[in-house]
Amino acid sequence: MKEHVVVIGAGQMGSGIAQVFASVASIPVTMVDVSSEALGRARASIEKSLARFVEKGTLDAARRDAALAHLAGSDDLGVARTATLVIEAASENAELKYKVFADLDAIAPPDTILATNTSSISITEIAGRTTRADRVIGMHFMNPVPLMRLIEVIRGLATSDETRDSVMSYARQLGKTAVEVNDFPGFVSNRVLMPMINEAAYCVMEGVATPDAIDKVMTLGMNHPMGPLALADLIGLDTCVSILEVLQQGLGDPKYRACPLLKKYVAAGWLGRKSGRGFYAY
Ligand code: NAD
Repeated sequence: MKEHVVVIGAGQMGSGIAQVFASVASIPVTMVDVSSEALGRARASIEKSLARFVEKGTLDAARRDAALAHLAGSDDLGVARTATLVIEAASENAELKYKVFADLDAIAPPDTILATNTSSISITEIAGRTTRADRVIGMHFMNPVPLMRLIEVIRGLATSDETRDSVMSYARQLGKTAVEVNDFPGFVSNRVLMPMINEAAYCVMEGVATPDAIDKVMTLGMNHPMGPLALADLIGLDTCVSILEVLQQGLGDPKYRACPLLKKYVAAGWLGRKSGRGFYAY
């Protein structure tokens, strides 16, 4: 069967994932979203991002044109009928993902791997909604996808070696490094990152230091490219709270409880960059 990647959800992650499959791996990609505006925005943001690579001289114009010709959009999950790989990157909501995977299981060819870009939802639980748990796997891309080198590959309880190998091979075609981890709440990335962000939020709440001072300690002192509070604003404070709740519930340890200040900012609509205000004003 001819390679055809289907990406479900054309938000910030889905559009980035579609972009790298089309432009780096030269594989035809169809983005599926329930919102036609999201599909339009995704195409525009991919065009803008590819244009920047051309300006910088890291992509030639012919490759950009070929990449754009590889990209399609649809509001119909039925396009998965010809998919060789599906990557789900819809909103971080467990019930939504369970439904999408049950539907995909009925539509996609039986051999097709169904991957999810979830930040925190159990791969094993998602796989349980399908009749092919051996072919369900986590492919956790980092934001922004075209620039970040890592894919955290998460094995569900029933994920087969063959599925893992196939996803590792896609990662190589994308020029990314894949790291394999097992299915536990938050995987490795968010289990280690979120407590740091949460502790930084506690430092603000308790008046230990200003956000700027905390971020300077971590960038200049620990050589982190970005401070934890600037990073929280980039990820979205609502997303940070959701992930912390998954860690707290899934691991049953109160040490993961979200800092009250984070929750207060979210209640106020201070979600970080996407809303124009978080720990910093944008
Ligand atoms: P987003 O809100 O930018 O995009 C989500 C998209 O999914 C929206 O366009 C929405 O219309 C679409 N959608 C909702 N329901 C759908 C359905 N039933 N079918 C098809 N499309 C549907 O979100 P995002 O930041 O791109 O996150 C997507 C996924 O990637 C989430 O699971 C998130 O946890 C994960 N993730 C996010 C980041 C990050 O930094 N934002 C990093 C790694 C992983």
